[in-house]
Amino acid sequence: MPPIDEILLRAQRHATQFLDSLDTGPVGATATIAQLRGRLDLPVADRGVNAIEVIDELVAATQGGHLGSAGGRFFAWVIGGALPSALAADWLVSTWDNNAAMAACAPAAAVVEEIAGRWVKEILGLPRSASFAFTTGCQMAHTTCLAAARHALLRDRGWNVEVDGLSGAPPVRVLATEQHHGSVTRALRILGLGSRCLEPLATDATSRLTAATLREALRRSAAPTIVVLDAGDLNVGAFDPFAELVPLAKAAGAWVHVDGAFGLWARASPQYRHMAAGIEAADSWATDAHKWLNTPKDIGIAVVADAQAHKAAMAIDASYLSSTGEARDPMDWTPDWTRRARGFPVYAALRELGRDGLAGLIDRCCEHAGALAAGLAALPGVELVARPVLNQGLVRFLDERAQANQRDHDERTDRMIDAINREGTAFFSGTTWMGRRAMRISVVNWRTTARDIERTIGAVAGLLGSAGVRP
Ligand SMILES: *Cc1c(COP(=O)(O)O)cnc(C)c1O
Repeated sequence: MPPIDEILLRAQRHATQFLDSLDTGPVGATATIAQLRGRLDLPVADRGVNAIEVIDELVAATQGGHLGSAGGRFFAWVIGGALPSALAADWLVSTWDNNAAMAACAPAAAVVEEIAGRWVKEILGLPRSASFAFTTGCQMAHTTCLAAARHALLRDRGWNVEVDGLSGAPPVRVLATEQHHGSVTRALRILGLGSRCLEPLATDATSRLTAATLREALRRSAAPTIVVLDAGDLNVGAFDPFAELVPLAKAAGAWVHVDGAFGLWARASPQYRHMAAGIEAADSWATDAHKWLNTPKDIGIAVVADAQAHKAAMAIDASYLSSTGEARDPMDWTPDWTRRARGFPVYAALRELGRDGLAGLIDRCCEHAGALAAGLAALPGVELVARPVLNQGLVRFLDERAQANQRDHDERTDRMIDAINREGTAFFSGTTWMGRRAMRISVVNWRTTARDIERTIGAVAGLLGSAGVRP
């Protein structure tokens, strides 16, 4: 076996080559699924392979199979990049390889997580007394927060859901907007509440829930209720009017949960903070470090105002556990047991940026999103569907034939997204918003520059001007 430093240096070389290629190579994948299978699908071998060979071959065989989402011209879905210190810290997390379940088996990880959690609450302006958890993503942050909600709502009605389960319990209902993210519904399924407990509420023309709609929905039933509000919906980055809605929901005895997967980070910017005014009065908040804080993937954050409900829903008490009592045991707050030390990349990212750097990252992404949407909308046959209020926007490509109808515009939009992604300068994804197809613009990476925006607009202009894409 080669010495470990040789293997790690090899990996480092591959890593830097990959990062260096982000600015010049195509953003989309160039290898097909069949090609990737053909290269990777080997029979299970009897004899093992030299570690350097394993790494070299893994890199070679996956060539063209990685999207350039780590780079500056990837605008699809909402997928952040990784800050240098957070990426490096993430490598070290794998190297230290502690099990960050308890302080007893990962003392430094436990302490760093305590501090990173406190910093996050401070930066997002959430209650100091709130509890938190670092989860795999916002999906499990929702699951964690809604487990706490389920506990508290049923506890208040004399039902111990952790002991007695849900059979026979008072039915819980969930109010969320029609635009709610699919991860909310899945959290409800995992928690045994079921997707049918969710009553979708209509939003106004700006994708926001109004006080009148919420008031009416709250009045319809006296069942224990969770209200899910959006801080940055996935299509247009809309923020529900928290200052109005949260007090309404709380007055009706509801638990207010916020999906702020990326949008909650607007709180870190003096320029955008006002959009989430009043959000601190909610009961729980789910967000991601791996989106707008730009840590590597696998880090979501759950914050819960009622720390006791959070712990009651998640903590494990087993005789062989050895809590030191001196430090916070992360697994008391998360749905997982053996776990990655997720605090380190968060700690590193926040130190690298500082308050000013983080605000700058947020502001820059929003500015680039605005410029990209405006630049695309200025091209012939492009319609601005939603001007970014934050870092998300929508445009649509029009079929320029005289008789063209909405279906034709929808198809034209999908064809253009496909053509842009194949061209390789940038990468986008589509959505259906208010019944129409649109191309989403999401800027959520520290690497994106004004030059990236120019290059992207230039590439789309080129496609629109070429005969390559049928009108
Ligand atoms: C990405 C996203 C989620 C899910 O987060 P994961 O980290 O992928 O689990 C939930 N809600 C919104 C609004 C999102 O953008």
